[in-house]
Amino acid sequence: TWSGVKQGPPDAILGITEAFKADSFPEKINLGVGAYRDDKGKPYVLPSVRTAEEKVVSSKLDKEYAGITGVPSFTKAAAVLAYGADSPVIKEDRLAITQSISGTGALRIGGAFMERFYPEGKTIYVPNPSWANHKAVFGDSGLEVKQYKYYNKDTIGLDFDGMIEDLKAAPAKSMILLHACAHNPTGIDPTQEQWQQISKVIKEKEHYPFFDMAYQGFASGDTDRDAYPIRLFIQEGHGMVLCQSFAKNMGLYGERVGAFSIVCDSAEEKKRVDSQIKILVRPLYSNPPVHGARVASEILNDASLNKQWLGEVKGMADRIIEMRALLKKNLEDLGSKHNWDHITNQIGMFAYTGLKPEQMDKLAKEHSVYATKDGRISVAGITTGNVKRLAESIYKVTG
Ligand code: PMP
Repeated sequence: TWSGVKQGPPDAILGITEAFKADSFPEKINLGVGAYRDDKGKPYVLPSVRTAEEKVVSSKLDKEYAGITGVPSFTKAAAVLAYGADSPVIKEDRLAITQSISGTGALRIGGAFMERFYPEGKTIYVPNPSWANHKAVFGDSGLEVKQYKYYNKDTIGLDFDGMIEDLKAAPAKSMILLHACAHNPTGIDPTQEQWQQISKVIKEKEHYPFFDMAYQGFASGDTDRDAYPIRLFIQEGHGMVLCQSFAKNMGLYGERVGAFSIVCDSAEEKKRVDSQIKILVRPLYSNPPVHGARVASEILNDASLNKQWLGEVKGMADRIIEMRALLKKNLEDLGSKHNWDHITNQIGMFAYTGLKPEQMDKLAKEHSVYATKDGRISVAGITTGNVKRLAESIYKVTG
């Protein structure tokens, strides 16, 4: 039956993990995966998550199905986290929101909703580069994916002029995917002033913003600061959709906790949109898993746990910022002639080193340092114990 099914290529990240596992060198370093590690290089379960989990378990809730849109106490609090407690979209009851299978599931619901209902076309523009799964998710949702300029390889920074130029050149009312913060893979975010200009151009062109916020709190350590573009765009009167993930900021990766929301013009419109989200989700997976959402709900709704969590998010962000500084310092101490300012200018889990594919190959083959060929390294995988050897390896392959 399946003789016509061709062997597909392995997932790029999983391929790296396999090569890493097969390497017997004891000091090998894996900077491929996008998951936070503590300074011992170990996965980290947030203490606030442990406490919330104990509360959920000890309350002995039943295991009945949630509604199609998930656990209401969770989605309500997720909306407040993203849009802010004083947001007009919440006060005026015009936000349609559903729990989702983490950020990827939110993107998939969003892609399907836009494909089915967005009246102005089926093309979505994503930054070049973007998280590789964007193209796959939107393509599978039936959208056409095009790119706008984002990265300037000469400055290893934002190609702001190119981005604005492409946003202006796109047909009016196009869908525009925006990373709210901690852009993956580059770690390069627009400044607040640049966001204001982006908002202006999107408004002028009547484009439709499609926000992906997978790292709220993870970039600056402050969840409000990281949500700046969301709040700005609302203030500027844009319609928008938003995908939220709690994988990184709560370390709930495998629990698959996320939310998808649509900003509507009125409470009445919200009701209609909400009914269609339900019709869309029902045949996809019927309703979402409850455990992770209950844990996140505890953390978001219990004042003292919430405070503790915000401190832990900041702790993760700060450790990453510290590792950026240490890596740069080590490279400079070695006498590297290259400019490494971008390592500390960039933000979030990843650093886009500017290393070429050949250099990344050398890093893996000669130094047992594994990361993707595009030169992206997960700063979350750097520790005080491996940063020196990492810097020496980068120094050697960059000459
Ligand atoms: N968007 C971006 C930009 C991401 O980097 C990620 C995680 N790698 C996601 C969405 C979704 O991840 P998850 O499904 O694990 O929440």
